[in-house]
Amino acid sequence: MAAICANCGSAVGTMRRLRGATLCESCERRESQQRQTATEEMEALIAQALAAPDPSAVVSQLPAVVARTGLSGPQVDREMNRAVRQMIERALEDEYLTEEEEAAINRAINALGFDQDRAGRVLGDLANRFVIARVNAGRLPELPSSSVMLKPGETAHLEITAHLMKEVVTARRRRSFGSPTVTW
Ligand SMILES: [Zn+2]
Repeated sequence: MAAICANCGSAVGTMRRLRGATLCESCERRESQQRQTATEEMEALIAQALAAPDPSAVVSQLPAVVARTGLSGPQVDREMNRAVRQMIERALEDEYLTEEEEAAINRAINALGFDQDRAGRVLGDLANRFVIARVNAGRLPELPSSSVMLKPGETAHLEITAHLMKEVVTARRRRSFGSPTVTW
């Protein structure tokens, strides 16, 4: 087993080797600083992507930076989830979600490659506040499908089950001379 640093070739102490280190102390320190710097760059890029009118240009710079962080895929995903969650929290702070705010959130999650499941998980317990903030801004939620047949131009906003409504059918009968009983 070579007792030299995999990076600079200088000697690596026995104790370091036993701990599984492949780098000398100064190379390891420099590498960890580089990773730290890259992680900060990644966080800044994600924040920039969330604020950009066209996030895809910023997002395209991410993979190169992410590679230098040494973070695992799930760690990067968590970082993105956290940033998006913060963005949503900020937009909901005033309990008022404008169309622009919602469009910005959609642009960001699309650019970061979130699918609907992941977006839903990140939204989590904020879902109700999201709907309320939307309604506060004068926009009722629209249902992608509804059990009611819609006419063209109609939109389903909210569907609730009405347990208390009872259908009462009343029939009035009128007897006419010379014709059978008509019920309506
Ligand atoms: Zn070294």
